[in-house]
Amino acid sequence: MYQKRVKMGIFNEAQKYIVGGVNSPVRAFKSVGGEPPFIEKGEGAYIFDIEGNKYLDYIQSWGPLIFGHCDKDTQNAIIEAVKKGVSFGAPTKVEVELAKEVLELFPHLNLIRFVNSGTEATMSAIRLARGYTGKDDIIKFEGCYHGHSDSLLVSAGSGAATFGVPSSPGVPADFTKHTLLAKYNDIESVKKCFESGDVGCVIIEPIAGNMSLVPGEKEFLGELREICNHYGAVLIFDEVMSGFRASLRGSFDIYGIKADIVTFGKVIGGGMPVGAFAGKKEIMEKLSPVGPVYQAGTLSGNPVAMSAGLTVIKKLKENPEIYKELEDKAKKLMEGFSETSKENNIDFNYNVIGSMFGFFFNKKLPKNFDEVNESDTKRYAKFHNNMLKSGFYFAPSAYETGFICTPMNEKDIENTITTYSKIVKEI
Ligand code: PMP
Repeated sequence: MYQKRVKMGIFNEAQKYIVGGVNSPVRAFKSVGGEPPFIEKGEGAYIFDIEGNKYLDYIQSWGPLIFGHCDKDTQNAIIEAVKKGVSFGAPTKVEVELAKEVLELFPHLNLIRFVNSGTEATMSAIRLARGYTGKDDIIKFEGCYHGHSDSLLVSAGSGAATFGVPSSPGVPADFTKHTLLAKYNDIESVKKCFESGDVGCVIIEPIAGNMSLVPGEKEFLGELREICNHYGAVLIFDEVMSGFRASLRGSFDIYGIKADIVTFGKVIGGGMPVGAFAGKKEIMEKLSPVGPVYQAGTLSGNPVAMSAGLTVIKKLKENPEIYKELEDKAKKLMEGFSETSKENNIDFNYNVIGSMFGFFFNKKLPKNFDEVNESDTKRYAKFHNNMLKSGFYFAPSAYETGFICTPMNEKDIENTITTYSKIVKEI
């Protein structure tokens, strides 16, 4: 599978015209070094770069492509939709169909609004929660990522359970002073936040996929639900990544905990730009045009994107057994990596949930962001470079989750493990 990459200078060319050569920072390979391949096409579990190299793709567009690249059903739905017109800015039937299919899965979610990205979904959900409760403070967890809106681009001040400070220039401190930061899987830090502010909502990835993969503990998430009830705060589960990925109903299948609002993205759009937030009727009805909380979008509910999403969600509902198959493959991959690492005295720990996997070059299995940060990221960079050269496309950062898609077969997984055992001495 290994082919030498011939440099065509496209990355240099890209940097002349596009900031950093990319339209989303992680794609520039800054944390692992080297140049990103420019992708020509995908086919099932594989992608091909413009130099003709083939890679087994463990990123799958960062999650959306659960059926792999060029899934025929999704493609056909997109083509048929395009034939009717790409956008109307007016209501269409397919939005209603997708809304029904999604809400049918979640008895505690009554109404939905579609947007164009995960960032928009969480940003709008927070505005709605603030509008509903009339309280400005929110709690977010270290290591969870909810997109790049101002009040969520926050890092810890001194110590956990503290007022957040902006993690990017351009975000006024005034905007983040209402964001309190708590520690993942640590209910005491949540209690401190509730005591120190007037908290209207808590946002969390119940299955955290942005510090590699760290699942919330069932007891912790249960206590979080209770504490939100106690203080009358809205609980938002951000399932942009885990929704329809960790399981058909995301974290709801795994923990059975009912959030007040759930945000979706990635799989719900089948690879097209879609986000959504769904919630309890009394909260959602505060949203414009029914209620006073404003939210809108020229391309929201776009018929082409909705058609792709509808096809994928229907297909998942018709074939729920795929989650077990995907999980078995993810486990096989991680067990293989773990054994090889052990044989080579490399600290290695991992998590698998449904089609998602995350691993750490770390003595222990991390439960929060501080522990994730004890992992050996230099070793991850070497792992990444060597696997890429050998035709395996893993996330170009130690802080990302990996994804299995249905066209990935046993042989693909075995090849990946064999290749790891060949390059392990290099890392
Ligand atoms: N929430 C979560 C949990 C995410 O993983 C992401 C993106 N990785 C987002 C929100 C933001 O989504 P988008 O990139 O579509 O804006």
